Amino acid sequence: MKKINRKKALITGICGQDGAYLAQFLLKKKYKVYGFYRRSSSDNTWRLKRLKIFDKVELLDVDLLEFNRVKDLILKINPDELYNLAAQSFVGSSFSNPHTTTNINSNALINILETIRLFRNRIKLYQASTSEMFGNSSKSALSEKSIFLPDSPYAISKLFSHHLVLNYRKAYNLNFYSGILFNHESPLRGEEFVTRKITKGLIEYVNYKKTLFLGNVNSKRDWGYAKEYAEAMWRMMNYEKSSTYVIGTGKTYSVKSFINQCLKRLKIDYIWKGKGINTTCINKTDGSIIIKVDVKYYRPSDVIYLKANNKKAKKELKWSPKITMKKLSEIMIDSEIEFFKFNN
Ligand code: NDP
Ligand code: GDP
Repeated sequence: MKKINRKKALITGICGQDGAYLAQFLLKKKYKVYGFYRRSSSDNTWRLKRLKIFDKVELLDVDLLEFNRVKDLILKINPDELYNLAAQSFVGSSFSNPHTTTNINSNALINILETIRLFRNRIKLYQASTSEMFGNSSKSALSEKSIFLPDSPYAISKLFSHHLVLNYRKAYNLNFYSGILFNHESPLRGEEFVTRKITKGLIEYVNYKKTLFLGNVNSKRDWGYAKEYAEAMWRMMNYEKSSTYVIGTGKTYSVKSFINQCLKRLKIDYIWKGKGINTTCINKTDGSIIIKVDVKYYRPSDVIYLKANNKKAKKELKWSPKITMKKLSEIMIDSEIEFFKFNN
């Protein structure tokens, strides 16, 4: 019988939201999937378990700042595709932890780049870049050609890595791709990010009448569904030539609009009162406070508007998102209800 050679993929940050969806997608495509993760005393593999792929991927405990360990494992695995997703990915935290953010988001990448450049220059590399790199540069839809104006240690660390990937691609003729992804969410999103904080917080409000505290609810984001974005990463890596792509829906909504959709799904009759730091959202039926703005959650500097121009990805990758913000809020609320029932 003819032996089928499975393609090999290596994902750093496999235990995160995108790592888990990407691993699921690649397994369906019959890849052999390896993942670098960081050892922890508490379980950080819950996403892989929820997608029922924990026993289908090979996990390797790696400190990404250790050059020899990173190099030896990349050489041993010898992947066809390497997806670099590991990051301190929370903008809020990057203001209080700029060193940690820079170390993992920027410095760790150098170990991967140097390994590929020196020893395995046929490995394709995907770098997880971000719309945060644009900052508040423009209120137009942002494309691969738009100006970068990063506004947080997170965005700056990611812009450094984006430029490094472009530099290695050009200087050494390597197959390196940079995906500038706009915000993408799912039931597997970390609980500190605003969409997941809202869906989890609203279920706690429904069950315990606990008020949810948020920061700037007028901020606007281009929110997509993470599962669809994992496919975009793979399409990029399998396009005929290495390039940079903006991935987003092309629609933008405020945090408040996302909340309104979630409240509709929960059939709660509400009214917004006040402005800025005095904003509250009240339950019309019993007068209880559903949401209250707290300055504690305002950032030292914030990106207030992001919208993608995804024409290049649509044209070249034939990638087009189908899940709207409304549908996303429904997926996340429904999953949160199930999750709550399961745990209580
Ligand atoms: P997550 O925060 O869910 O996942 C990041 C992963 O990186 C986690 O598995 C985490 O490990 C790991 N990690 C963090 N610090 C370290 C470290 N010091 N050493 C090793 N591993 C570490 O992010 P997402 O999955 O949402 O995002 C994936 C990538 O895409 C990130 O690089 C992010 O910055 C980028 N991105 C994400 C966007 C989004 O909207 N989701 C938008 C644009 C870019 P652990 O599980 O132990 O915490
Ligand atoms: P980001 O775009 O990567 O920073 O993703 P987040 O989900 O963390 O934040 C999106 C936007 O929501 C930002 O403009 C935040 O300032 C705003 N926001 C408002 N309230 C909150 C909050 O309580 N938590 C978070 N994480 N963001 C909030």
